[in-house]
Amino acid sequence: MLSALTLAACNKEVKQTTPSVADFPYMVDQFYDLGILRYRVPGFENLTLQQKTLIYHLSEAALWGRDILTDQNCRYNLRIRRLCEQIYLNYPGDKTTEEWKKFEMYLKRVWFSNGIHHHYSEDKFIPECSFAWFQDACKQCGIAEDPALAEVIVVMFDPTVLPKKVCTDSGVDLLLNSACNYYEGVTQAEAEAYYAAHRDDSAEPLWIGLNSKLTKDANGNVIERTFKAEEGGLYSAALKKVVENLEKALPFAETEEQKLVIQKLIDFNRTGDLQTFNEYAIAWVKDLQSQVDFINGFTEVYGDPLGITGAWESMVNYKDLAATERTIKMSDNAQWFEDNSPTDPRYKKAECKGVTAKVITAAILAGDCYPATPIGINLPNANWIRKSYGSKSVTIQNLTEAYNEAALGNGLFEEFMLSEKEIDYAKRYSALTGDVQVDLHECLGHGSGQLMPGVTKDNLREHGSTLEEARADLFSLYYIADPKLVELGILPDNEAYKAEFYEQMMNGAMTQLVRVEPGKNLEEAHMRNRALIANWVLAHANPEAPEAAIIERDGKHYMQINDYEGLRALFGQLLAIVQEVVSTGDYEQAKQLVEDYAVRVDPVLHQELLERYKPLNIPPYKGFVNAVYKPVTDKNGNITDVLIDYSEGYVEQHLRYSRDYSVLPDINE
Ligand code: ZN
Repeated sequence: MLSALTLAACNKEVKQTTPSVADFPYMVDQFYDLGILRYRVPGFENLTLQQKTLIYHLSEAALWGRDILTDQNCRYNLRIRRLCEQIYLNYPGDKTTEEWKKFEMYLKRVWFSNGIHHHYSEDKFIPECSFAWFQDACKQCGIAEDPALAEVIVVMFDPTVLPKKVCTDSGVDLLLNSACNYYEGVTQAEAEAYYAAHRDDSAEPLWIGLNSKLTKDANGNVIERTFKAEEGGLYSAALKKVVENLEKALPFAETEEQKLVIQKLIDFNRTGDLQTFNEYAIAWVKDLQSQVDFINGFTEVYGDPLGITGAWESMVNYKDLAATERTIKMSDNAQWFEDNSPTDPRYKKAECKGVTAKVITAAILAGDCYPATPIGINLPNANWIRKSYGSKSVTIQNLTEAYNEAALGNGLFEEFMLSEKEIDYAKRYSALTGDVQVDLHECLGHGSGQLMPGVTKDNLREHGSTLEEARADLFSLYYIADPKLVELGILPDNEAYKAEFYEQMMNGAMTQLVRVEPGKNLEEAHMRNRALIANWVLAHANPEAPEAAIIERDGKHYMQINDYEGLRALFGQLLAIVQEVVSTGDYEQAKQLVEDYAVRVDPVLHQELLERYKPLNIPPYKGFVNAVYKPVTDKNGNITDVLIDYSEGYVEQHLRYSRDYSVLPDINE
């Protein structure tokens, strides 16, 4: 399992061709509870012209889907976004007033959420500017007063209208109480009856409802309106543009398998035929050789209260060869790591095989992946395809890099790290070491060791996940300090690991507590695992000359590490203990470890940490702006290169997308 806080990426090899971290402005904007980051697309310049051209056309196909998602989120969204953009661009009045700033923040939030409901909580948010100011602004911008405008303003300002995007309350009609636009005039009972009647129970079933909206015909019968480019399809105008750009991408496909993927997707977007969708999804799973890969279409179903219809999303990416190289080095040496670990020989695997992690670089994010985005992809969603044909699971390193780099500038390290020395380690190494730590955890840690005969993972019951994560983390921490990593060329020198040691200790014993509410204990397995490691080490440090300790300075507490090599030895000791607990299925000792070190929060320290964290004003949610791809063409219009530009800001990007990639009507019926 991965978390944005511990993940980071940075490839020395590809970094030389892109701006250095110090020069790259990761933080773009911050408003309300949102932070906007920029991400680098390392190595893009080194791709072949064919690959760059392919990415360019696929990225265009991605951007054309933006309005589909916006409309899926709520039927008034496009109308409201366009109304606000019109005011934003044409308002002749004073743009320095509080009212204007509140209005601007509202529009920025609408862009972020692809609509008027919070992207995470799903509650509708109301403009903080006054109703009167907004009405006057409409008038000043020459926007005609008509019933349609009045209706839209009510939707914006009245908190009781469409308050929730996706209703999950029990005992009420989920469809009638959800603002999302997958059903219109159809009750939950009617929709469920419709889907029950049309369900496909075959071995390779069609995903009925994946790409359609349920509504009613003139006679009151429930009908399905399919999302397709063909005449009569819902979202036809936008899907035609998607198809157009997929067609341009087709000649640049890297492999025959990828050609089939794109062709099937074109056919599916044209016709909406679900058999074609299945063929597309299977072809996509089978395409493993292409370096460039992408998703484009109706995918995740969280936005539909019944969990059937897919929200439109797209992400274009390519395999990060350098990072994947690193994970190959680790798994090639898996046996060496296993043989040399400090665990009891009885618990070691005789034959150890590492896993090669697939690491990708995102080139464009769109639809439901933008601006807020997942840091991993695991598709397709159809279980029968996963079972019969497999699935693809990847981590997106350049996005986690951006999270990590932005964290360097947010003041957290300055407030909580002991001195300049630790901050300097973090700045020099932590992007790389955070990444290597995760790779070791995933590629080697979980796969190491063996259980004694008769023992299963279930023996540790509710503490199983915490102990398993601790085992993988300890394996990783023990080896990140091993000279073997420098020898293999994975780390640059024998100092780098110190950055990771310091952050793990600081985070496990202290800073992760800022995510816990006052009075609460640690619950989540990864957080418990990190606390277990840090607190056990602190408790077992040498009392005469502690390897690590929490010290107090001017009324504030800090992590102090005095002996990094000694700390490694402690990680090794704990690894041996945890491996034994897991290998022998010793529930009592697992419980003891968790209770002693992984659960309790010191309320006084906790309060202090919360007070120091608050003024840093770190936004809880983050999203991204995309890079801009600019094709260079010869006099015949052939693309001869694709340049990448990182300079576009958040507002500029959304205004441009709304101007250049927007063909759907205000209301889609
Ligand atoms: Zn794990």
